[in-house]
Amino acid sequence: MPGSSHYALHPHPFSQWGAGFQQPLLIAGPCSAETEEQVMATAKGIAAGGHATVFRAGLWKPRTRPGAFEGAGAQALPWLQRVKAETGLLTMTEVATTEHVEACLKAGVDMLWIGARTTPNPFSVQELADALRGVDIPVFVKNPINPDLHLWIGALERLEGAGLKRLAAIHRGFSWFERTPYRNSPMWEFPIRLKAAFPDLEIIGDPSHIAGSRDKLGTIAQQALDLGLSGLMVEVHSDPAHACSDAEQQISPEAYAELIQSLIFRQALPSAPMADRLEELRDLIDQLDEEIVQKLGSRMDIAERIGEYKREHNVAIMQPERWERIMRRQLALASHLGLGEQFLKEFMDAIHRESIRRQTSEQDESSGVASAGVPQYPAIGLDR
Ligand code: PEP
Ligand code: MN
Repeated sequence: MPGSSHYALHPHPFSQWGAGFQQPLLIAGPCSAETEEQVMATAKGIAAGGHATVFRAGLWKPRTRPGAFEGAGAQALPWLQRVKAETGLLTMTEVATTEHVEACLKAGVDMLWIGARTTPNPFSVQELADALRGVDIPVFVKNPINPDLHLWIGALERLEGAGLKRLAAIHRGFSWFERTPYRNSPMWEFPIRLKAAFPDLEIIGDPSHIAGSRDKLGTIAQQALDLGLSGLMVEVHSDPAHACSDAEQQISPEAYAELIQSLIFRQALPSAPMADRLEELRDLIDQLDEEIVQKLGSRMDIAERIGEYKREHNVAIMQPERWERIMRRQLALASHLGLGEQFLKEFMDAIHRESIRRQTSEQDESSGVASAGVPQYPAIGLDR
């Protein structure tokens, strides 16, 4: 991504947000506000643990299909006021329309977030920005559901354009066509690239919506912290199993306290830690990629020499038993190194196809038949 100088985004770090904002910022609360009792029980449980400064609850829930629970709506605003008065936690909810913004500002909600289904719609984001013009309220922008860094940045720029200064990002993972172990693919390169471009932008992790299940929450939360994210937003419910939305990923206030205690919060380095670390890691990757390509070059040269030899001795190019032996050996090594079997098969398959292409094009040239470009081998079958 190009440098950040041509973006209209100059975020303020938490240190300039005022009292109470510091790393790590811990936000906890239910996916949805369901009833006053559920909201109060959850908030009191969270406050008792002492591991959060902000209480989240979705009042207006964007649901994938009609008929699902859509949140308690504006009637829950007084419940958030009660949470603040009785627990001292700051309150936060999702806004998607100007009506939501107006109702929240009127009710004194402390902070807002823009959801992953709203961020990718420039019209909606602009409407929200206009409704917030001149209001000094912290706004957190979740990444768009699709992996597009510019949409994420664009939404933040629109809010900054409306005069908002206390802006931050929330990484909640991306919808992706490939099956992953998680509800949303973390694609960590996105928050890393965002942080590298805007070192002062605070990004917090939302492990609940990435993991999608309680058992993977800790792993994702720790990864977010290890990458240097500035805090966490975790879905916590007084009775997770009976939650009206996202029941599989919510945890009880007690489990939340245990989770936070089990995490390692690393000390941030004094200067742009993610950017520095990123540089180092990128150098390593560049070096390894170069080695991989060089090795592929050498491998193909040898394949070509084998092709010549086979041609001279009238031996068939494809020798299935040998390829099976190679694959068996590589798969054993890959499993030892923790590389996915499918990935390795596809990788080796591509190498094999290129190898055969080099050997057959040699033959075509020598027999005076024009090579017809890359021969199409079936992915599985003949050449094994
Ligand atoms: C939520 O935070 O409950 C929510 C709806 O999240 P997202 O917009 O990330 O899907
Ligand atoms: Mn949710």
